Amino acid sequence: MKSLVRKNIVNLSPYIPGKPIDEVKRELGLKQVIKLASNENPLGASNKAIDAIKRSIQQINRYPDGSCFYLKNSLAKEFKLKKENFILGNGSDELIDIIIKTFVEDSEEIIVSDKTFLEYKIVSCVNNRKIVTVPLRNFRYDLTAMLKKINKKTKLVFIANPNNPTGTYVNRLQLREFLWRIPKNVIVVLDEAYELFVDVEDFPDSVGLINKYNVVVLKTFSKAYGLAGLRIGYAITRPEFTRFMEKVRQPFNVNYLAQVAAVAAISDKKFLRNTRQVILKGKQYLYNALEKMGINYVPTVANFILIDIAMDSSSVFKRMLKYGVIVRDMREYGMKGFIRVTIGIAEENKRFIEILRKVMVK
Ligand code: PMP
Repeated sequence: MKSLVRKNIVNLSPYIPGKPIDEVKRELGLKQVIKLASNENPLGASNKAIDAIKRSIQQINRYPDGSCFYLKNSLAKEFKLKKENFILGNGSDELIDIIIKTFVEDSEEIIVSDKTFLEYKIVSCVNNRKIVTVPLRNFRYDLTAMLKKINKKTKLVFIANPNNPTGTYVNRLQLREFLWRIPKNVIVVLDEAYELFVDVEDFPDSVGLINKYNVVVLKTFSKAYGLAGLRIGYAITRPEFTRFMEKVRQPFNVNYLAQVAAVAAISDKKFLRNTRQVILKGKQYLYNALEKMGINYVPTVANFILIDIAMDSSSVFKRMLKYGVIVRDMREYGMKGFIRVTIGIAEENKRFIEILRKVMVK
């Protein structure tokens, strides 16, 4: 019998999330498990955000403010922009969907890289939009090759900057030269989920580009702000775009607790500074340890490291799991000999290296 399900859904490879800690504890009977698989903040969330949730918990019988009034005000102040420059989403994941639904006609194409955040492809496919894939070059976005793929049907280009899973970035000059050459009828999405970890001088000021080019910047509270479990992210672009994106979103897409926590998190600069310091220190520790072991890695500006373990990543992943260390097997990205590890707090990084050493001995 013919399937009742749409063809592209039948053939879709679903997103594979990092394994949850509880699942690994349950399945393997382990007491101690560390998760370095989903690029979360290892310090937890800001106490200001947690207190704000505690103060607001009694109001959860009410629908949230669909317009995110207070949060947009805070963001507008933070970025010195207008409220109308922002739209909030149930994670930046949801904004990827909203962007595609708002801008891309059935007949139009979306350009993505082959080794980048998988949601661009998945959401395009669910929405029945054609994807054009451009390989990375030396673990970096190949913007010249991407430009060559642009044709009359192209509507969107997704650039994760920094890129997940490589941790590499497109610099200011490269981005500017790329945007100069982009036709006027194409929109470029700059997904900056990891921008708050970046420690280089030549990273682009993407928000400064929104009035000059057709650029939509994506940001999230899931990573540096430590609010991944609440699901909240946002897009920054011109009001002439957010106006239409607002029509596409669900009326109450961002829950109440996420909104109050995000307002509080923005105000906690100390928590962000501390997070950055812990990640930068952890990065240096992991670089040194990997170098001592003779293991290659891709230098990163984000809070994770792509590691070339030069052996079967699935077997390394499974063996590490048995010791209670969850990393990411990069086979799902078509990178068989690689794992991706999220930078954790000092004890987690130490444990990761200790177990990696154990499982890599044949
Ligand atoms: N963009 C990139 C590049 C990511 O790695 C992630 C999270 N894995 C997201 C967007 C989605 O983040 P969220 O939906 O939690 O805001």
